[in-house]
Amino acid sequence: MATALGENKSLQERINSLQIKLNAANEEQRKTKLAVNFIDDPHDEDPHDTFGGPNSRHKLQNVSPSTTPTPPRSGRPKMNLNFSREKRKSERTTAIEKQLSELSKKAAILAIDGEKYPFTIEDLEWVEEIGSGTCGVVNKMFHRATDTTMAVKMMGRTPIMEEQKRILMDLDVITKCNDCPYIVQCYGLFISQSDVYVCMELMGTCLEKLLKTTRTPIPEPILGKIALYVVKALQYLKREHGVMHRDIKPSNILLDERGNVKLCDFGISGRLVDSKAKTKGAGCAAYMAPERVEPPDPLNPDYDVRADVWSLGISLVELATGDFPYPGCRNEFEVLMKIINEPSPLLPANSGFSEQFQSFVNVCLQKNLKYRPKFDALLEHPFLVRYERETPDVASWYANVTSYV
Ligand code: ADP
Ligand code: MG
Repeated sequence: MATALGENKSLQERINSLQIKLNAANEEQRKTKLAVNFIDDPHDEDPHDTFGGPNSRHKLQNVSPSTTPTPPRSGRPKMNLNFSREKRKSERTTAIEKQLSELSKKAAILAIDGEKYPFTIEDLEWVEEIGSGTCGVVNKMFHRATDTTMAVKMMGRTPIMEEQKRILMDLDVITKCNDCPYIVQCYGLFISQSDVYVCMELMGTCLEKLLKTTRTPIPEPILGKIALYVVKALQYLKREHGVMHRDIKPSNILLDERGNVKLCDFGISGRLVDSKAKTKGAGCAAYMAPERVEPPDPLNPDYDVRADVWSLGISLVELATGDFPYPGCRNEFEVLMKIINEPSPLLPANSGFSEQFQSFVNVCLQKNLKYRPKFDALLEHPFLVRYERETPDVASWYANVTSYV
């Protein structure tokens, strides 16, 4: 009884302490309107943070426990900062405008199969909507002159600084990665007064939709290939561009009927400084690594690519079993509590998964960072070595599962 009371107390203390951190992070996010930084500045705070950014899908502040402690108020003397605030704000706006106009120079040209075609958005015929997320809507569109059907992500230009940053990050990464076969290819951009359009190669679907429509777990050999390609894409992003993805989850992994597996959605990717992310960044709470949920110093985040390795591990368990590995949560706060308090998810024993696969998931889901490998080591794991060698027919499997939905 005494122990149970003690455990309850310590759980309550942890909830309270988490809530204090969330409140502090929200307060900090409110203050980001004062921040000087821009996306190229690694010390920038990203207000799309899971902890309540304006468009966050995970509004944790709405699920606060009944006894919400408020963060201590700082005793700083009040100063009139309006002048410098305005100055910083206009500096940031100028920086964003500058980056957008740089991108505009590259815009309005489609590069398809080595040929370049000037285009405007009127040249694209709408076919159907194929996806939507926090950042925009993705439509299937047809370009008559090149006889190309493509995926076009449309993101509204907004005066909200944080959203502009997200859009720019997405554009910045996707336009640089056409040399990576595991990242969705970009054909070109179009920037109008009101919207930004990213024209991409059309993939078949994302893994989230596939799982929802087929309601069938994905076989291990297919997941072997998916894991291999995602790790290669992440390694490429880190090596070639010094960024980490920060939002690895089934809806950001795309497949097509040729058996390609590609990453998309770079809106909240984070620049790495000395291999560490210095901003809180956003990301889906459900796939978030423990060190991101409960950083030792929430106002000074400091994590690395291994956070993406965790998200890959959670995604693999979900795809292999068909179920999200933290069941029974009523809200994201409860998921976060489970990520911190419960042992890591595992692949169920005696369900036909190979030892290599179980071990791979195990290492991805090490709660202690020290034991969670980075990409080079992961690529030497027997599970990935095996799927580097073996060639399961992803294309036929894809054709088969999508034929009866
Ligand atoms: P958001 O930032 O809004 O999450 P995404 O870039 O992830 O936007 O795109 C949203 C969804 O659109 C994806 O989950 C996927 O289902 C679909 N999608 C995105 N890009 C493509 C593409 N190139 N081909 C096919 N579907 C895509
Ligand atoms: Mg997405």
